[in-house]
Amino acid sequence: MERKVRVRFAPSPTGPLHIGGVRTALYNYLFAKKHGGDFLLRIEDTDQTRYVKGAEDYILEALKWSGLTIDEGVGVGGEYGPYRQSERKEAGIYKKYVDQLLASGHAYYAFDTPEELEEMRENLKKAGVAAPQYNINTRNSMKNSLSLSAEEVQKRLDNNEPYVVRIKIPRNEEVKFKDLIRGWVVVQTTNLDDKVLYKSDGMPTYHMANIVDDYLMKITHVIRGEEWLPSGPLHVLLYQYLGWEEVMPQFAHLPLILKPDGNGKLSKRDGDRLGFPVFPIQWTSPEGEISSGYRESGYFPDAFINMLALLGWNPGTTQEIFSMEELIQAFSLEKVGKSGSKFDPEKTRWFNAQYLRNKSNEELAAFVKPLVAEKGFAMPSDSFLSQYCGLMKERAVFINDLLAEDYLFIAPTTYDEQTVNKKWKPETPEIIKELRTVLENIVDFNAANIEIAFKSFIEEKGLGFGAVLPNFRVLVTGMGMGPSMFEICALLGKEETLRRIDVGMEKILNVKM
Ligand code: GLU
Repeated sequence: MERKVRVRFAPSPTGPLHIGGVRTALYNYLFAKKHGGDFLLRIEDTDQTRYVKGAEDYILEALKWSGLTIDEGVGVGGEYGPYRQSERKEAGIYKKYVDQLLASGHAYYAFDTPEELEEMRENLKKAGVAAPQYNINTRNSMKNSLSLSAEEVQKRLDNNEPYVVRIKIPRNEEVKFKDLIRGWVVVQTTNLDDKVLYKSDGMPTYHMANIVDDYLMKITHVIRGEEWLPSGPLHVLLYQYLGWEEVMPQFAHLPLILKPDGNGKLSKRDGDRLGFPVFPIQWTSPEGEISSGYRESGYFPDAFINMLALLGWNPGTTQEIFSMEELIQAFSLEKVGKSGSKFDPEKTRWFNAQYLRNKSNEELAAFVKPLVAEKGFAMPSDSFLSQYCGLMKERAVFINDLLAEDYLFIAPTTYDEQTVNKKWKPETPEIIKELRTVLENIVDFNAANIEIAFKSFIEEKGLGFGAVLPNFRVLVTGMGMGPSMFEICALLGKEETLRRIDVGMEKILNVKM
């Protein structure tokens, strides 16, 4: 029977979400939407010792900013929000299945104290075992329901002795599953250990809770980071032992996001060292330490998501700019690479610049308006602001870049020295005076007319652009470079352009017009 596609993003609230985590959420989301399925959020907070305050809120906020809307779910209490394993445990959801595994002999009680476990490991290390495990070779010498008598076990349970429940990994069996990205994964059970599934404090471990929840939530595809690949065989065994093989989800383990030089996993330290965020939004740790985020650094969420989507997934065409809708249409797990993808900070900036350029001038003006007010400039008209943004957007990566220069809001008081020193010649004042007259005579002072007048002026005079334009620019804007001077003058208007020429010539360059 065709099942409805249902996927889940299942982060543990142990800190802020790394961009690798957002990419996992994104691929889940795209896969779900592509197949008309559901995207669930499940907070895996069974390990209370690793719980970090604020992390869950952070995850929700980061997903929201990224545009990854959750379809479900409803907590056990019935309130809207993510599924939280800690709450589900209260409802006794997991215990029932642990009991089922105990009854069928696929799991057993173990009463070993931390000291006894340590002793076992030390002894094995001394005997030359590199990675000592609680497994088929060691379990019989430990204190568990396989080595102790039934009465002894019952006595310990009646006395409320702390215990854990471990899976009983079989001897010499082959566990096989097909990963949608990596193909067949085959593991010998001899290499697996008897992982803890449940603790007597009533908390299931990650493995148990993860499997039970995927089953109960009717998850069809598990798409997660490759660090979980080694857990795959254990999860497959649990599905078998619980009798859920028929509905076992398909697995897809995503490759890592690598450092820009490809040398290992991208970490916060790389971001700090090379000057880029590794978190979607700013994170303030419970100790008050602040880590930068893409949102606060001025990235558009859609540019950020577009960049992340292509970090590991290859659309098979040269297209680079994808809206969320286009990503949904084009996405497939088959086109996710097996090897890690290098994070490219420059390319990330490039994506933002593309998105900025693709926004309408009016949209950009709305972003810029509060910044103009913040800077204390007199507020120009909306049409001025839109044209201004149109002029500046070609050179900007972030919204803030649009206001990096303020000469269209206030007249310059300093003049680019290099231009003045290099371009200003003895004949320049005369040329500028004549240009001023040409400008003054333009009836309709728009960019096209200014350009025509300017060009015919230099042609008539037999001058090159370089002899006139830089000096003209420095007088009007104070800068050595910038966007089209004709557009700038049109925006300033004739009166202000002429006034700036006069002020520049007289006050700064000591030439009376
Ligand atoms: N809680 C795990 C994590 O933090 C989820 C692994 C999975 O998706 O199965 O990554």
